[in-house]
Amino acid sequence: MVIYKSHLPNLQVPKSNVYSFVTSNPNKTPDTFPLLVDSSSQRVITFGDWKRDTRRWATGLKSIGFAPGDVLALFSFNQIDYSVTLFGPMILGGACTTVNSSYSAGELAYQLKDSGASVPVTHSELLEVAIEGACLVGIPLERIFLYGDQTVQGFRPYTSLMPTESTPENQLAQIANWTTTAMICYSSGTTGRSKGVELTHTNLSMNTLQTSAMQGPIHPHDNPILSVLPMFHSYSIQMHMLSGVYNGQTNVVMERFVFGDFLASIQDYKVKTLNLVPPQVLMLVKSPLVDNYDLSQVRQVMAATAPCSKELVEALLHKFPEVSFRQGYGMTELSCASHLGLYEEIIIGSAGRVIPNQEVRVVDPETRQDVTPGDSGEVWVRGPNVMKGYRNNANATRETIDSEGWLHTGDIAIVDSNENFFIVDRLKELIKYKGFQVASAELEAVLLTHPQILDAAVIGIDKKEQATEVPLAFVVRRSSALTENQIIEFVTSRVANHKKLRGGVQFVDSIPKSASGKILRKNLRSLLQHKMGQQ
Ligand code: AMP
Repeated sequence: MVIYKSHLPNLQVPKSNVYSFVTSNPNKTPDTFPLLVDSSSQRVITFGDWKRDTRRWATGLKSIGFAPGDVLALFSFNQIDYSVTLFGPMILGGACTTVNSSYSAGELAYQLKDSGASVPVTHSELLEVAIEGACLVGIPLERIFLYGDQTVQGFRPYTSLMPTESTPENQLAQIANWTTTAMICYSSGTTGRSKGVELTHTNLSMNTLQTSAMQGPIHPHDNPILSVLPMFHSYSIQMHMLSGVYNGQTNVVMERFVFGDFLASIQDYKVKTLNLVPPQVLMLVKSPLVDNYDLSQVRQVMAATAPCSKELVEALLHKFPEVSFRQGYGMTELSCASHLGLYEEIIIGSAGRVIPNQEVRVVDPETRQDVTPGDSGEVWVRGPNVMKGYRNNANATRETIDSEGWLHTGDIAIVDSNENFFIVDRLKELIKYKGFQVASAELEAVLLTHPQILDAAVIGIDKKEQATEVPLAFVVRRSSALTENQIIEFVTSRVANHKKLRGGVQFVDSIPKSASGKILRKNLRSLLQHKMGQQ
């Protein structure tokens, strides 16, 4: 067996609740330190306020009967107090599920039901969707709370539950043990629809330790984080919210990604490290707006959640010669990351090195034997940051984590002689649009509800010029009266923005399937190449 490990020593596995872990804060951040700043209003939450507010929120939740094992849902775009609401349920031994803020009521209802959430917190702009979603699953409307401090249409802000005084943590924490589920994030994994990824207190704390160990030389207190990544995704949960509190980094929160505002914030808050997704790196390279701002403080750029091409990295380094670049690789199922590059060495095209406490194999998916070093194979990962499993889905858990604890990522990599990993392909069905997951199975299910569609399959196609993939559908239609535009509109009206069929529709006579009925996506890819070649 060839097992790749980190060049760094293993770290002690934290066996406490994640709130105690992050507030243990080894850098001794003072209570007056500005932990969170709202980029537009400049409102500040200090470290001391954050600790008090999370406990006041936990106390408020307890007052409405929120108990260990209960689930709170956060359905919002980024908010300065998102992390306050995130930690409250965990302090009580409950869990938090974070929902994509662009979801339709149907998509929200699916996650609320599947996670078993009983209290949603949302933003007034999303209230109508939240009400519809809650009604679909029978959550009483008085259990919906809002960000901000205003009551809107009778819906109260979550802060209205908070007592003036904060309760000491030891009077609140009812954590059964460190294997308790703290978060339920959603991911389609290697196949099928979105599933609830159960992450324990230790999973989350461990990944904070693992990723912090790979961070590099800038002192956290002097290294603000710019939170433009959506806070509902594990990348932001781990690299911004948890790491921000644990290490004591100011988190400058932007509600939404507006490129000009993003550049202004980098300049104004003297941001040195940018955690981005590849399409944002592309904007830094290509947009003429960049020249209007002073970005000379930036020293480190990381891209993660999707492949970042060599050409794009080279263009970035050419435009910003002072900047070091690395990629991060991981999955929601790994609490975020299993691999990170080092800023001290730029390995163009590499997704990173193995982080501490992580064992990694590269395996031939057919023979299940380790490949000869240098050959490509599926990445298998084992370690204390690997999820507990998929919620209420033992089959999917068994298909993903084998009996020896190896999580089969569905990604194909090659490892070079210095143990740098290069992700070269994907075995699984997943499509990544600008870092967001799009599950083929979900779009196929939507397409099949159309009365004129007999069969359908969805694959991702690369749009190099936008540094992303987009979903494309193959459709068997009942009659040629059904047009591509009609199908695109049909899907658009039913799914979140990032799942739209931006790759278009190809009409086919049949969908190639294996004897067991599995869609043969490789054949569809070849068919597409053939069709494109003919045009
Ligand atoms: P998510 O759970 O949303 O973070 O998605 C995880 C998946 O994103 C991985 O299994 C990969 O397919 C893809 N991914 C994440 N990081 C990278 C990377 N650096 N290079 C290539 N693919 C990546």
